[in-house]
Parts: sequence; structure tokens; C-alpha cells
Amino acid sequence: MARTEFSRATKRAALERSGHRCEAEGTRYGFEPGQRCNCHLSLGVQFDHNVPDQLGGDNSLSNCMAICIQCHKYKTRNDVRQIRKSDRQRDRNSGVIRPAGKLKGAPFPKSAKPERDPNKGLPPLPPRKLYEERP
Ligand SMILES: [Zn+2]
Repeated sequence: MARTEFSRATKRAALERSGHRCEAEGTRYGFEPGQRCNCHLSLGVQFDHNVPDQLGGDNSLSNCMAICIQCHKYKTRNDVRQIRKSDRQRDRNSGVIRPAGKLKGAPFPKSAKPERDPNKGLPPLPPRKLYEERP
């Protein structure tokens, strides 16, 4: 799978912006909301798409995160899940997947109901006698 990459200039700028500290932040990387990883990037830096390119992210500097290897691993796992989910949603919307929980139709073709009213088409019955005449 071809994955678009950041240019060297973008990576350099992102590393510069990070102050050589991991820019990963918040629950997407397994931290508390607002908490930043901040570990030093001298042990290895990864440049991560803040919004994955499969989900419409571009290669601009604002979408480029300089993060440590641990954070990158965490995020990649989550991104894969999110990408699969968005694939499923797209397939559902396009009809590739049928929504679960509903049968397509009745197991038998619908036909006209059998006639239920036995008097239909017959002359009305004579009024019922209130008593019987003895023979
Ligand atoms: Zn980190």
C-alpha cells in the first residue's frame, strides 16, 4: 500500500517545532486529555500523520507530528482500527454491506390472501326465525 510521506522540509520543520520532544498528546496516544508525552526524541523520531492519509489527512506541516517510537506504535494500532471502521461505514453507505439485523424479505413470496369471507358473493341469509314451527 502506497502511503504518502512528508517532505524532508516538513519533517525538519516538525522536529524544530517539537523542540525535540515527543509531540504526542491526549487520549489518542494513551495519555490523559491534554497530557503530552514530551519524551526526548534523540532515541528515535517518527513523523506521524495527525489525520491519517487514508482518512483524508494531507502532508502539510500542521498534519505532521514528531513523536517517539512508543507513541507511534500506539497511534498506528488505533489508526488501523479507525481506518477499518471508516471502510465499513463507506461500504455500508454504498450498499456493499447490508445492514445487520434485518432479513431482506419474507421467506415466501407474498401472494393474495385466501378469501376469508365465505358469504361474499352469496345472497344474504333470510332473517333467522325466532322460534321453530313444529312440523
Ligand atoms: Zn511519545
